[in-house]
Amino acid sequence: MELKIHNNLSRKKETFAPIEAGKVRFYSCGPTTYDFIHVGNGRALVVGDLFHRVMKFLGYQVTFVRNFTDVDDKIIERANENKEDPIKLAARFVDECLKDMDSLGMLPATHTPKVSDTMPEIIRMIEEIITNGAGYVIDGEVFFNVEKAIDYGKLSKKDLDGLQAGQRAEVDKRKKHSSDFVLWKPAKAGEPFWESPWGKGRPGWHIECSAMAKKFLGETLDIHHGGVDLMFPHHENEIAQSEAANKKTFCNCWAHHEFLNFGSEKMSKSLGNVVTTRAFIEKFGGQVLRQLLLSVHYRARIDWTDEVIERATQDVKRIHEFAVELQGLAGTAVATDAAAMSEVKAFMQSFTEELANDFNSAGALGQFFSFIRFVRRDVIGKAASVELVAAVKEAVEKSKLALGHIAHDPAAILAALETNKGSGDVDETWIQSMIEQRKTAKATKDWKRADEIRDELKAKNIVLLDNKDGSITWKMQ
Ligand code: AMP
Ligand code: ZN
Repeated sequence: MELKIHNNLSRKKETFAPIEAGKVRFYSCGPTTYDFIHVGNGRALVVGDLFHRVMKFLGYQVTFVRNFTDVDDKIIERANENKEDPIKLAARFVDECLKDMDSLGMLPATHTPKVSDTMPEIIRMIEEIITNGAGYVIDGEVFFNVEKAIDYGKLSKKDLDGLQAGQRAEVDKRKKHSSDFVLWKPAKAGEPFWESPWGKGRPGWHIECSAMAKKFLGETLDIHHGGVDLMFPHHENEIAQSEAANKKTFCNCWAHHEFLNFGSEKMSKSLGNVVTTRAFIEKFGGQVLRQLLLSVHYRARIDWTDEVIERATQDVKRIHEFAVELQGLAGTAVATDAAAMSEVKAFMQSFTEELANDFNSAGALGQFFSFIRFVRRDVIGKAASVELVAAVKEAVEKSKLALGHIAHDPAAILAALETNKGSGDVDETWIQSMIEQRKTAKATKDWKRADEIRDELKAKNIVLLDNKDGSITWKMQ
C-alpha cells in the first residue's frame, strides 16, 4: 500500500517515494542526555518508533538512525555542578534513556551514534564545508556562512533579510551574517575537547546530525524526523551544512511531531514543568505512556492532563484483557464463517490504510477497538472455526508489530495496572500545581505562603530547586 507523509518541505501530504525502491534511509534527532528524559522527549522517541514500525509493516527495509547528543553545554554545566566527567554523565543518562525506551516497547534503531564517537566524521565534514566556501574560521572558531547556503530557509520558510531584521540578541560582530552559526568552537578551560585543525575544541550542535546521517545513511536521506521546535534553526542548519558539504539534496521528506504541553506551555526542562518518563513509567507503566502518545496523531498537540492519563490507562486495560482472552481461544467449528473471515480482512485493510495515511496511529487504534468489539461479539464464545481463530490471531499479531500497542506478556501488564492503582506514588500534577502556586506567591511577595508550600512538599520528601533562570524544578530527597 502507498504511504503518504506530510512533508514539511512542501507543507503537503505526499506519496512517499524512497530513493531506492523498497528501502528507507530514516534519521530522527535523539535526546540530549544530561538528565532523565521527560514525557515530551518520550513523544519524540515513540513517534520515531511509530515511523520505523509502520514502514517495516508496509514492507520497507528501513535503516534507522537515532543519535544521542552526549557533547553539549547543558551536559558540561550539569557535570560541573556534580563534579563529574561530562562524557561519563552523558553515558549514564544514555543508559537510563535506553531503559525507558525498553519500557516504552520500542524497537531498537539500526544505529544509535553518539557525538563523542563521531568526531572524525564531524571534523571531516567541517573541512568539506570550508573547502566548498561555506565555512570560515576566526580565532579557532568555525562559522557557517548562511549566505553561501543553497536556498537557506527552504524548510522553515524564513528568509535571510527577515531573519536579520528580527535579530534581537546581541550579534557576534565577527560573523559575516547575523544568522551564521557555529560549526566548531574552542574549548574553555575545564571543558572537554577534541583535537582539530582549528585547535582544541568541540562541535556546534547542528553539525552532529549532518555528520551522523552521512556516516550511516549516505548523502541523501528519504525521511528525517524531529519535534517542531527543531525545524528552525536545527533542521534548517542541518540542510545548509549537508548540502554545502555534499553538494546533494540532504533529505527528501521532513516530518515533525507537535509538542506535548503542560497547561499552556511546552513541557521543557528549562521551564521546569517536566514529568520525567521514568517517574511516569514507575507509577503507570510504559505501556500506558505509549498508548497515550499513540492515541493522538503525531501532528496534533497533546495536553498533559489527568483525563488523558486515565483514558490511556483504560485503553491499555481493554487491549490487554482482550489479548489475554485471545490466548485461551481455540477454534472448534468445522465450517468456516465466510462473513466473519471477510470482517477480519476488512479490519486489516482499514488498519493499514490508517497507518499508511501519514502514520495515523489514532485512526489505527480506533480500528483496533472496533475489531475487539467484533471479535468479542462474533468469535469469542461462539462456535468459531480453527481457520477463523487463526486469522484473528494473525491480524492481532500483525497489528502488534505495527503499533507495539500490545505487550509481550499481557497478563503481566494487567497485574501491574492493578498494583499501580492507588499506589500512593508522588503525584506530579499536584507537585506542578504547588510549584505554580509558589511562583505566584513569590511574584506577589507572599513569602509566608511561598515558605509554607516549600515545607508542605518537604514533608513528602520533595525538594524544590530554585534555578538561576527563575525556573523551579524538584527532586525526591
Ligand atoms: P532535546 O533533548 O531537547 O534535544 O529533545 C529531543 C527530542 O524531544 C526532540 O525531537 C525535541 O523536539 C523533542 N521534544 C522536546 N520537548 C518536547 C515536548 N514538550 N513535546 C514534544 N517533543 C519534545
Ligand atoms: Zn538533529
